[in-house]
Amino acid sequence: MVKAALYVISGPSGVGKGTVCRELLTTAGELTLSISATTRTPRAGEVDGVNYHFLTKEDFLQRVDNGDFLEWAEVYGNYYGTLRSAVQQELDAGRNVLLEIDTAGARQVKKLMPAAVLIFLAPPSPEELLRRLRGRNTDSPEEIARRQQCLQDELAQEVYYDHVVVNDVVADTVLKIRQIVSGR
Ligand code: 5GP
Repeated sequence: MVKAALYVISGPSGVGKGTVCRELLTTAGELTLSISATTRTPRAGEVDGVNYHFLTKEDFLQRVDNGDFLEWAEVYGNYYGTLRSAVQQELDAGRNVLLEIDTAGARQVKKLMPAAVLIFLAPPSPEELLRRLRGRNTDSPEEIARRQQCLQDELAQEVYYDHVVVNDVVADTVLKIRQIVSGR
């Protein structure tokens, strides 16, 4: 049996990680998504335990102290982390795990688990990314401005990744990632 693997998808805010991951999970039965914990306020329609485990800052930091996280990071003023036990359980059960996390978290994962496959989702251009970020209607103007400021630094992170996939047409992006997963 091929050993289950860990796949990490990151990329700048607005690049379409959420859409691509959702599509990957519905079309690629061989992947299971790890649900992160966060201290961010839920957006309209987000459900605790489905989109994220929404924690208070106090709970989150307690879990950091307990060593519960495989990786964690502060992203745009909130904490986000991957629960170690959930990932390990899935891998032990032979299922490939997908993490959708920021670039700082991805580097922590690679350090701890060098066999993890890091995939960077890049925009067709920085201008297109800004257009998507402003058009998605889920974030306040202050939040958009904050994410926009981090953009250049985020884009520069692609050098640390095993694969860079440009997200232009979602179906093509999903196909390319599925090829990475099946071609391992
Ligand atoms: P959002 O607030 O838009 O859901 O996510 C903001 C950022 O946090 C995204 O770049 C997302 O990939 C990242 N993120 C989500 N979950 C985790 C996690 O568990 N760990 C880390 N390091 N980043 C995460």
